[in-house]
Amino acid sequence: MGVKLRLINALQKIDTEISRINNRKKMLPGELAKLDETLQVFCADFEKDQKVLEELNKAHKEREEKLKRGLENLKKTRERLSDVKTNKEYQAILKEIEVTESKNSSMEDEILIIMDKLDQIKKQVKVKEIELDERRRDYGSKKQRIEQELTEMDAEIASYLEKHLLLKEQIAPDLLKKYDTIKIRSHGVAVVAAWKEICMGCHMNIPPQLYIELQKDQKDIDIEYCPHCNRIIYWEDQHKKGE
Ligand SMILES: [Zn+2]
Repeated sequence: MGVKLRLINALQKIDTEISRINNRKKMLPGELAKLDETLQVFCADFEKDQKVLEELNKAHKEREEKLKRGLENLKKTRERLSDVKTNKEYQAILKEIEVTESKNSSMEDEILIIMDKLDQIKKQVKVKEIELDERRRDYGSKKQRIEQELTEMDAEIASYLEKHLLLKEQIAPDLLKKYDTIKIRSHGVAVVAAWKEICMGCHMNIPPQLYIELQKDQKDIDIEYCPHCNRIIYWEDQHKKGE
């Protein structure tokens, strides 16, 4: 590979890396926001359960007090029985006792139902409390990892930009200008490999004569362009690549 080509290819590799890192960087805040949202949804659900628990506790207390008053009423009404003078009065008190007993009994039923619900929600809250704790820890460590990744990527970009500057100094201005123009026009990729007579940029066939030229390993070989997409092309043995 000629020197010019080697340098411009190296520049392309750096630009590709920078663009890859920048793309990843753009995605990270979204990933973090998604994690945050999931945690918030769980939190809201947990708080709803807590509220239900609170309300049931309150309802339980209220009914226990009502029952206590009802039982006191019953006791007082029964005491009045010994003072009655007439049968009519006696019947009226019996009726009153019956009504109070019935009220107390339904209050007891309500209390049992509430206690049953309380039992369930208490268990639920306990399980969710543990899960929320785990989720918070998980979110914290993921957030930390993302922030660390962002810092690392900034450092990586800075180091690539430094290499980018050094390379640019070694490339002729007219070639650089051409490179930039092709890059803008070709979705950020100005230099591509050619393999098996195919341009890896546009996947079109490269004329055989040009392909033969590309394979010549001349030191000062001129820069060649794909006749279809106009990108700078070079030949590289794709079998040896990555060995
Ligand atoms: Zn092409």
